[in-house]
Parts: sequence; structure tokens; C-alpha cells
Amino acid sequence: MHQLVRRRLLKSAVTSLGAALIGYSSRVYAGSKFPKKTMDYRDRPNGQKMCANCSHFLPDKNPRNTGRCTVVEGNIGPHGWCMVWATRKPIEGC
Ligand code: SF4
Repeated sequence: MHQLVRRRLLKSAVTSLGAALIGYSSRVYAGSKFPKKTMDYRDRPNGQKMCANCSHFLPDKNPRNTGRCTVVEGNIGPHGWCMVWATRKPIEGC
């Protein structure tokens, strides 16, 4: 009995995760962005992880100013963070 319940819960969780990922990827593919709240955006870093070192960050010409993000809507601070942070590949020669 417990095994059946566990199997149903696992199946439900996998289905929900799949639907969320499909929604995320199709939305990004379509060029629309997500609200800050949806992505748990905050104005402070998560340890060493912050928008300034995220591959989705599009910095302003003045690095102290806010920039943009390819995933999250609105102005994005370089010291912010959200749940889809992704490491920025080192730029050659830097
Ligand atoms: S994906 Fe998140 S962590 Fe990365 S730049 Fe956008 S808001 Fe910042």
C-alpha cells in the first residue's frame, strides 16, 4: 500500500517537474521573461552566486548600475540572485 502511494506521489512529482521545465524552456524560447517573484529574485547574493557572475546577466555599460537578464523581467542588480542562476563561463584572456 505504501509503495503504491509512494509511486503515485513520485509520478505526480515527475509530471509536475516536467511540465514546469517545458513551460520554462518554451517561455524562454519564445523570448518572454519571468517575473522576479516567480524566480525568487532577491537583491542580495547567494554566497558567491550573484547576477554579476551569472551567464544570463546583461550588464549595463557602467557595472555599478543595474543591468538586464535574459530570463527575468525588469532591472537586475549585479548583486542580486535568483533560482536559475547559472555560472558564467570564463572569458578567454581574462
Ligand atoms: S538568471 Fe537570475 S541570477 Fe542570473 S542574471 Fe538573471 S536574475 Fe540574476
